[in-house]
Amino acid sequence: MTATSSKSAIPATLIPGDGIGPEIIEATLAILDALDAPFAWETHQAGMAGVDACGDPLPTATLESIRRTGLALKGPLTTPVGGGFRSSNVRLREEFQLFSNVRPARTLIPGGRYDDIDLVLIRENLEGLYVGFEHFIPIGDDPHGVAIGSGVNTRHGCRRIAEFAFDYALKNGRKKVTIVHKANIMKALTGVFLETAREVGKHYEGRVAMDDRIVDACSMQLVLNPWQFDVILCTNLFGDILSDLIAGLVGGLGMAPGANIGASAAIFEAVHGSAPDIAGKGIANPLALLLAAALMLDHVGRQDLALRLRRAIDRTLIQDRVRTGDLGGKASTAELTSALIQHLKND
Ligand code: NAD
Repeated sequence: MTATSSKSAIPATLIPGDGIGPEIIEATLAILDALDAPFAWETHQAGMAGVDACGDPLPTATLESIRRTGLALKGPLTTPVGGGFRSSNVRLREEFQLFSNVRPARTLIPGGRYDDIDLVLIRENLEGLYVGFEHFIPIGDDPHGVAIGSGVNTRHGCRRIAEFAFDYALKNGRKKVTIVHKANIMKALTGVFLETAREVGKHYEGRVAMDDRIVDACSMQLVLNPWQFDVILCTNLFGDILSDLIAGLVGGLGMAPGANIGASAAIFEAVHGSAPDIAGKGIANPLALLLAAALMLDHVGRQDLALRLRRAIDRTLIQDRVRTGDLGGKASTAELTSALIQHLKND
């Protein structure tokens, strides 16, 4: 456990995570140190690292730390596919009622397929088809003869996320919120989402514009003309899918940060997973986690530091052309980290 003695230090939980997690967390901490970021870290484990350390993918000490600090930076956590334990990420969202998932996508390296992308996807994080109400009905000797799954969207949950999205737009100088749904088919489940979000949007009339799209049409339009979007408001599953799509518009998961925000806690993370195929090789791209740290600085009111951090990232990628393999470069995690620290020192 590390702590700073500074009076203005903000206590925050640090979860290194699995796979490339510890490598990109180490890089991020070195850069945040160079930035003189105000966090006093409490380091705790989760995921497979939690199982190894305490026999639990979400140890009590980790939960207690987040309950205390209300703020966490989290490396990716490995989830066994099919069987094994339930995703610690989903459990964390439920435990701390982190109802909102904010995923910004901004072009960092010009000259790709899409230039000047700058949009934000806000995803409902607790309801919809993620509630896990699923079962099989056996038919004859087939135990999986029928699979049944139900989604749950509450009026309260829809209103809460819609208010969050419109408030976010207002606070961040965004002009429009697009509500994404499939109310033509899932008339109840996503109909209530559309209906409630439209009601909320009326209160922002004249300040934030509003429109809506059916999710399939929205997917096509995001590929053909992503510049027409500003803030995209989605239910849980559609948000999961479309946020990977928008990450693809700006160069992939290595550049996509995410914030999970509730009334009393916020957890910041990279959108990507633990990348077991490259873990330990020293080549992971730390930028998604670093951009998540920038969102965390915004969240605690240190937009000044977040701006310096984003500027250093832009300069490292564009002026120096120091890039990791996933971005078409040859730099190691350590080389990218040193280049970024140099920019912060010169800034
Ligand atoms: P992944 O995101 O870990 O990897 C997909 C591909 O992207 C791999 O080829 C990987 O090498 C590459 N990649 C990902 N992050 C990178 C980075 N920072 N730099 C360079 N390359 C990077 O997805 P996956 O392989 O489907 O999942 C691996 C594990 O991560 C699974 O257990 C999954 O459940 C978990 N996961 C966790 C989170 C989270 O904790 N938020 C999110 C997604 C997946």
